[in-house]
Amino acid sequence: MRYPQTFIDDLKRQAEIVRVIQDYVQLKKKGANWMACCPFHKEKTPSFSVSPTKEIFYCFGCHKGGSVFNFVMEIERVSFPEAIRIVADKIGMPLPKMIDDGRFEARRQESDEVVQLNGWAMEWWQQQLESSNEARFAREYLVKREISEETQKTFRLGYAPDSWDALSIYLRQKGATQQQIERSGLVVKKDEGGSYDRFRCRLMFPVLDVQGRAIAFGGRALKADETAKYINSPETTAYVKGRNLFGLNINRDEIRRQGFAILVEGFLDLIVPYQFGVRNLVASLGTALTAEQAKLLSRFARKVVVNYDGDRAGVQAAKKSIEILLAEDLEVKVLVLPDNADPDEFIRKFGVTEYQRRRAQAQPHIQFVIENALRDRNLHRPAEKAEAVEEVLPYIKAVNSRIQKREYFDMAMDSLRITDAALRRELWQSLKQGSAGAGIGQSVIRRRPKKPTIAEQRLLELLFAKENLREAILAMLEPSDYEDLLTAEIFKAFIELTRTGETIDFESLRAKADADDSLSDVIAGLLFDGSARWDTRELHAANQNLTPEDCVFGFRVMKIQDQLEQLNSEFAEAEQARDSERLEALSIKHLALTRRRNELALEQTSSTK
Ligand SMILES: [Zn+2]
Repeated sequence: MRYPQTFIDDLKRQAEIVRVIQDYVQLKKKGANWMACCPFHKEKTPSFSVSPTKEIFYCFGCHKGGSVFNFVMEIERVSFPEAIRIVADKIGMPLPKMIDDGRFEARRQESDEVVQLNGWAMEWWQQQLESSNEARFAREYLVKREISEETQKTFRLGYAPDSWDALSIYLRQKGATQQQIERSGLVVKKDEGGSYDRFRCRLMFPVLDVQGRAIAFGGRALKADETAKYINSPETTAYVKGRNLFGLNINRDEIRRQGFAILVEGFLDLIVPYQFGVRNLVASLGTALTAEQAKLLSRFARKVVVNYDGDRAGVQAAKKSIEILLAEDLEVKVLVLPDNADPDEFIRKFGVTEYQRRRAQAQPHIQFVIENALRDRNLHRPAEKAEAVEEVLPYIKAVNSRIQKREYFDMAMDSLRITDAALRRELWQSLKQGSAGAGIGQSVIRRRPKKPTIAEQRLLELLFAKENLREAILAMLEPSDYEDLLTAEIFKAFIELTRTGETIDFESLRAKADADDSLSDVIAGLLFDGSARWDTRELHAANQNLTPEDCVFGFRVMKIQDQLEQLNSEFAEAEQARDSERLEALSIKHLALTRRRNELALEQTSSTK
């Protein structure tokens, strides 16, 4: 179900973004905008701004931005429809009936049903754990692990009885149909028809989404002879693997406050530290972190301490996670506890102060990788040395900051005792050419740039600010002008919306570009910068006679300028490495770009005559 778009538009107009945000942060008027210290990141001087005319907010510090609804979603941690309800409530606007939306609606309903059934299962399992006779040994297990009743309630732990159909019977009593039960993943379908309860004689850990709804479960075996120690819910309409982080719904504020998250593997690795007061953990649910999980995490912190088991499997999983976190531009440290202890055991044994002390000494990811590469290898044997190098290089390559990359590289070369200058140069070179470590290297190369270039920024700002030029500019653009840009989808959305004659504002662009969180932050930023830049009087005068040709040619020239600047930093690097071959290749590229720029300048003068 959705609210009708006309109502959403109406509500946004009447809600006055400043008034709504004022409820959460102290805004001060500054020129046309309102400013405050950002509620989403730590800061001392205000960079959080709200524009009443554009109906958006934007933070120049952490680059979050969007409409009044995005703000409420972020600060109240709610979904879009809920944000609408909250805003409507604040200004006293009555809510209309929600409308159906065909296929979307059917899927949504199915997903709601799964969540409903999961909710029933969760409550029932909780009751079993609290009071059933059969659950006595589950309770004893929790006592042994020192997990208090309060913690059990916070994480809504439960006990699934040793039965093939007890849960199914309960769900049917609650009114669920056999079809709904099968779709929920709570049972396993039999080939000959019918089904049986998936989780039997297990301690149950619900996986809650950020709104606290049960979307899946993990069950820990309590019988010693059980083959699988943990089993998990299959994917359903409500649950896609690798999209959620266990504990994020409970720990997210603390993660934001501390500026970093500790990544652990299992349910208990998170629950036990939580009980002892360490509340900035998330668990990856299964051993390997996914790119989507890393992205989700990067919304709350820029730094991550990976704290997996110290055994072989744990180390492998940690390395895999490092790879994925680096690709999201996160700063990664690794904490390995002595004697391969996991966080759960370690805290119960040595206490939380000792855990925090160790955590503060967590090593930078590269040190961890080097140490592992050195383990069991003899550097006096050339073949083993080469293996060690191969193992380490991909993790240096994945680092985006040039300075840090160089630092890590030198550190690795020293540790691996590579003293020959020519060899070092060659290896440094290989870091940029995609030969080292196919897996991680490739994924990094294919990544799009994180920030829009000056050229695209200016042109998009102009498209926002100068409605009279918009159509003519867009008509002149070729796909090749924007295809390779970070903001390609925004350009396409602009063109599409102009073609159909729809209103162009934050909301319509975001929807049309199907923007994820980071792209909608970019849109808000462009809207803010653009209005600031093009509204100032001097610029206004200077751009009075701006033609669409000027804009498009200007953009193309600026785009080349951006590429030249990029080349210049590559030059500096090649020079530092005294790499004459690379220098020559770069010079040729440089020459071609300069020539193209000059041609463009000529075209422009001839076309405007
Ligand atoms: Zn901010």
